[in-house]
Amino acid sequence: MTTAVSGPASGALRVDDAQLIGGEWVPAAGGETIEVINPATGEPLGRVPRGSAADVDAAVRAATAAFPAWRDTSATARAELITRWARLVREHETELDRLESQEVGRPHWGPPPMARMLDFIAGQADKVLGHSMPTHTPDVLGLTLREPYGVVGSVIPWNAPGPMFANDVGAAIAAGNTIVIKPAEDAPLTPLALAKLAMDAGIPAGVVNVVTGYGTEAGAAVPAHPGIDRMSFTGSPQTGSSVMAACAANLVPLHLELGGKSPQVILDDADLDAAIPAIVTGITLNTGQICAAGSRVVVDRSLHGEVVRRLAEHMKRVTVGPWHQDVRMGPLINAKQHDRVLNYVRLGQEEGAELVIGGGVPSGEEFERGFFVEPTLFDRVEPGMRIAQEEIFGPVLSVLPVGGEAEALTVANGTDYGLVASVWTRDVGRAVRMSRGLRAGQVAVNAALGAGVIGAPFGGYKRSGFGRTMSAEAVLDYTQVKAVSLRGTA
Ligand code: NAP
Ligand code: MG
Repeated sequence: MTTAVSGPASGALRVDDAQLIGGEWVPAAGGETIEVINPATGEPLGRVPRGSAADVDAAVRAATAAFPAWRDTSATARAELITRWARLVREHETELDRLESQEVGRPHWGPPPMARMLDFIAGQADKVLGHSMPTHTPDVLGLTLREPYGVVGSVIPWNAPGPMFANDVGAAIAAGNTIVIKPAEDAPLTPLALAKLAMDAGIPAGVVNVVTGYGTEAGAAVPAHPGIDRMSFTGSPQTGSSVMAACAANLVPLHLELGGKSPQVILDDADLDAAIPAIVTGITLNTGQICAAGSRVVVDRSLHGEVVRRLAEHMKRVTVGPWHQDVRMGPLINAKQHDRVLNYVRLGQEEGAELVIGGGVPSGEEFERGFFVEPTLFDRVEPGMRIAQEEIFGPVLSVLPVGGEAEALTVANGTDYGLVASVWTRDVGRAVRMSRGLRAGQVAVNAALGAGVIGAPFGGYKRSGFGRTMSAEAVLDYTQVKAVSLRGTA
């Protein structure tokens, strides 16, 4: 069932009431479906199967059956298939963008990155190299092979379902693995559309399997399945911990990407004309629901007043509304996130932070049914406050004044997270020291969400997780090393 939504309806890529197992579009074993809703209106967008452990089992069996032939397919042929998939994704870019906008609730933010992600990954498929080693005697060759694990299990979140799906599926299958992936219940439609294009590209049945459903049912069944050889999880630390425990029971390695509380460090020589708009975009893009979002501004006291004033001015200009309007910020994904963000706003005030702007639901009839919140700025936030420590996953920015570079570094590093960190300075020496000193998987100097590097590895330090995606390392991460020693006969 598909209900009409505001704005242009999405077309041929829509998959309703079906998930992909062994190349077939099938309902859930239990026959039930779950509703996907438009977060801007609360109206239904479509339905997907309510998958369970039985569906995950069928998908793992299909992926296991498909694995030997896919592993033995020439790396050149695997790269060609992924390139063809990328081409189809590019041809359907507008439709994919609209579908993702509808289910995530975000306004258009430029061409979706999935096609170029897949092109990059396809280019890595035939560059999975081993090496040769010295030997004790000349009749022996020593070499390493990088081999796929087998069946990869993956659970992805709702905040960027298209890129998450392309990135994880692409890297796993480029290395010769097959995959069973569970998208989030709130945003499964873009992943299903991408899976459809993977089939259209000629990627063999069983190589890519998608099981939809709830996290506690279909999601939990993925790492629990003994047929999974390698796991990947992106989402909250709580769920990540339970996925890791399930992997521990089966002694299966995994990769975790668990979000952040990323600092934007503004030193006293920063170019504020560049920093302010970038920081506001960084925390309002996707309504702040980005793991890399810079949610803490750690600012030198000499610039504190000016920075707060200018951040507030810029934030006030961020227009809010449903995805199909010409606005910069949409709603949050669901009622739970809406409550969560508003609770953090209340908590920040109780903790004694100063609410500068925002903090509520925008007024007006069009905001009543969706999960909208205002861009929100807190000043005089203390490093120990919960709003300075916990990932809010909404458009809430905290300003923490500090005295000088050393204190800035201590405060910037003073959370359990370590995903991304930015520093704004014109001084090369400071930039170098901060780049080394910030404990995060990615450091950007004079940029908020990265300065635009192609193929930069992405992943966390500390409780932001481990393992790296979006790079050549991501494909290698889906391989294991075998050492071969080969003695020739006389
Ligand atoms: P979540 O529960 O960790 O969800 C992420 C994925 O895990 C979804 O596909 C979810 O499915 C699935 N899942 C849920 N419970 C599971 C279980 N027991 N076993 C296996 N998979 C399970 O995150 P959330 O509830 O959507 O969001 C909560 C918070 O997590 C956010 O506020 C944010 O702080 C953080 N988060 C971080 C990222 C990131 O990019 N690092 C992304 C999303 C959320 P269902 O959605 O169907 O339950
Ligand atoms: Mg959840």
